[in-house]
Amino acid sequence: MPVIANYNKLVEPVNHEPQLINLNGLRIHISTDSSDHKRDEKLEAIRHATELISQRVPNAYNIFRQLGILEVYFGENVLCEACWFPEQHDGTRFMFLGNKMMFLTNKLLPHQDPISGIGTAAGRGLCDQLYDDKRMSHFNFRRWKLGKDQYQATKRNTKMTAIVVHEFGHIFHEFNAQANFWLLKGDITNHFVMDDALASQVSFYVRGSNYLEFVAEVFTGLVHGKQYSMDVRGAYLYWGGMIVQ
Ligand SMILES: [Zn+2]
Repeated sequence: MPVIANYNKLVEPVNHEPQLINLNGLRIHISTDSSDHKRDEKLEAIRHATELISQRVPNAYNIFRQLGILEVYFGENVLCEACWFPEQHDGTRFMFLGNKMMFLTNKLLPHQDPISGIGTAAGRGLCDQLYDDKRMSHFNFRRWKLGKDQYQATKRNTKMTAIVVHEFGHIFHEFNAQANFWLLKGDITNHFVMDDALASQVSFYVRGSNYLEFVAEVFTGLVHGKQYSMDVRGAYLYWGGMIVQ
């Protein structure tokens, strides 16, 4: 279970940064392990994610303020996830960001990593879809103008930001509709399994799971300006997804 894996990280020696960092109203406190944890790039992804959310979510600044201090943990072999310690509404909010978020392509096996999507087929997780959207044809002048390194960096940064937005999708869901969120979080038998037709409109990754990941994935898409059908938007709001303009 990812929660236990990440929880174990917390009992290992960690390096705490003394200062709080304020990003668009969000106050974060960073801890790291002793690995190559890519602090600056991940911090930049969080900053970019809070900017995108601020542009799309009404009253985002106040919501970020009300979240209190978000504990952020950077490590190399850490699963990307938002979680609460203890696992309840008033638990401390954590965001774990591992180095997998920086991989250019998704080579993971099914069910290995909920963040990066599944397989290589079309309609992968939202973060990979947004990465794919940044791909440009070899014949695209803009690609050559960017240069190879910058082109790769643009795709990587897009995916990293999308992963952070996805995690904020969970945090905003819990903030907005805690009863629904914890109902779905405790639904380990997938009683509220998603409708397959609905899932396939959003991402391959949410198929066969309950609406918890659906809400985070749709949030990620909406924040990035994706359009969804009435059915998808209706289910998103029904389960407590935050309004995104
Ligand atoms: Zn998720």
